[in-house]
Amino acid sequence: MNIGTVLKKNKLLLLVALMYLTVLILSPDKAAKSINNSVYYLAEMMQVLPVIFLLTVVIEAMIPKEMIMRGFGEKSGFRGNLLALLLGSISAGPIYAAFPISKALLGKGASIPNIVIILSTWAVIKLPMLANEAKFLGIDFMILRWVLTVIAIFLMAYITGVLVKKKDMPTRKEKSRLLEIREDYCIGCGLCVKLYPEYYLMKDNKAIVIKMPERPETMQAILTSVEKCPSKAITINKQEEIS
Ligand code: SF4
Repeated sequence: MNIGTVLKKNKLLLLVALMYLTVLILSPDKAAKSINNSVYYLAEMMQVLPVIFLLTVVIEAMIPKEMIMRGFGEKSGFRGNLLALLLGSISAGPIYAAFPISKALLGKGASIPNIVIILSTWAVIKLPMLANEAKFLGIDFMILRWVLTVIAIFLMAYITGVLVKKKDMPTRKEKSRLLEIREDYCIGCGLCVKLYPEYYLMKDNKAIVIKMPERPETMQAILTSVEKCPSKAITINKQEEIS
């Protein structure tokens, strides 16, 4: 790997290092304080992140996609919103811990509004926070803030759901699958199932791949469904694609 690639890959790290260096030159005292703070937060992250990564592995490897979609997916409706509110409320740990979990949930079919609800609830109205708030500022204050915050969170979730589409987000694809259907693109027309019922199946108004084509002969045939899909929802994994 050449130096240009290394710099490009670590540009954020490089930018932070440059900022530290600038502060160090301009104000060594402030630089010492910044380094102390950074070390403190790094130590905190080292304690929290292993547990979070373990949790994301559990979500990715052990919780079926269907279960996440039922609970937090596009069709989970208001019940899904409430479930997301509950999950965010009972969470523990700093907000940055919520991002890898949210990404894992998103990759498994959770909807964008529900992710907004989980993140926002986690950040500002989780239960330990509410308990402390009631203790120091009074229960009336806590309840009023909770109600207004929940209204604001639901509004934000709705607006984000309208403005941000899943296809624009860096969710991890299930790799090494030769043939895939992007669920959010599929309009459920059923054409692929009609063409190749041995490979596709309709489930909840969306097509799913039930069998991987054996290459190379069937692969050539399956290309027809990729080309004919009106919403371009069917994709062939480039790494696996036949020549
Ligand atoms: S042809 Fe495309 S849009 Fe139609 S059901 Fe199949 S994947 Fe979905």
